[in-house]
Amino acid sequence: MNDAEIIAKAQAEHKRRQAALALQKAQEAEKLRLQDATAHDAAERVLAMFAAKSSAFLADLAKLPAHRDCERHPGTTAVLNEEASWKAARPVYRCPLCVDAKVKQRWERAMIEAGIPADVRHATLANFDTARPNVTPSEDANGNKTGCVSPAKFVQSCQAFLAREARNLFLCGAVGIGKGHLAAAVALQRLRDGWRVIWTDCAALFRACHAAYAAEGWQVIADRHAGADLLILDEICLKALPTDGEEILFSILDQRHKAGLPTILLGNAPAQQVREWLGSRILDRLRSGGCKFCFGAWDSMRGRERDGASDEF
Ligand SMILES: [Zn+2]
Repeated sequence: MNDAEIIAKAQAEHKRRQAALALQKAQEAEKLRLQDATAHDAAERVLAMFAAKSSAFLADLAKLPAHRDCERHPGTTAVLNEEASWKAARPVYRCPLCVDAKVKQRWERAMIEAGIPADVRHATLANFDTARPNVTPSEDANGNKTGCVSPAKFVQSCQAFLAREARNLFLCGAVGIGKGHLAAAVALQRLRDGWRVIWTDCAALFRACHAAYAAEGWQVIADRHAGADLLILDEICLKALPTDGEEILFSILDQRHKAGLPTILLGNAPAQQVREWLGSRILDRLRSGGCKFCFGAWDSMRGRERDGASDEF
């Protein structure tokens, strides 16, 4: 073979390869086009099926009476609710009592999800009784500070907190003075305002964090608490902090401090003990942005008539 022949052969081979490549490309493109068309056709068929079904369903709904006697609440008129029927794929009739029940159910669920304790789900600031027996005054007979404030002062601090005059609020004092009632009154107000509220006690928080060591790690749990619009941290100072407790609390409260999110802390201990338990690093975060501290001492209301509760045992 001479040079010219070699070159011609190489050129022919190149052409053949180019042609084969072009053919392969065209085949692939056609395959994709067919796949697309198949998927498209399938989607069209599914949509058509839904449309047929839904128009049949709508036609069926249209044949039903718009009103009827409520099955659950005889004697009240229930109205055919098209949207609810559509979602449930069956006719749904609702009377005003059904609607009320639905709203109530949703509210109950919101309170449970937020972790509001069952015994204070009725709480408001208005139904907190400030006339308490044996209230320790803020000064003793010799004019020395006792570190205590009045029940009325507790309510005022809650109002100031709701008015965002203080970002963080401590409600402290012995069991039964009504700290939980006041915290719940604030929390329920925020829940009604549409805020995401988390109420947890420290033991449960640390338990959840420790359980997470085996899985996603405690930071995930801490971040969830850090992100709540309102966090209520119950039972501070009850037990010594676990070895990682300071780190966990700092992570949560530092993030909340940076995001300007409010926190309520509940506990039995007076100020000095709270300060020691939390440590200066966490206290510093809580103090900035405004912080109110209430410690009160008066007779427990537990086992007696509780604030605002009507059906006491
Ligand atoms: Zn009904």
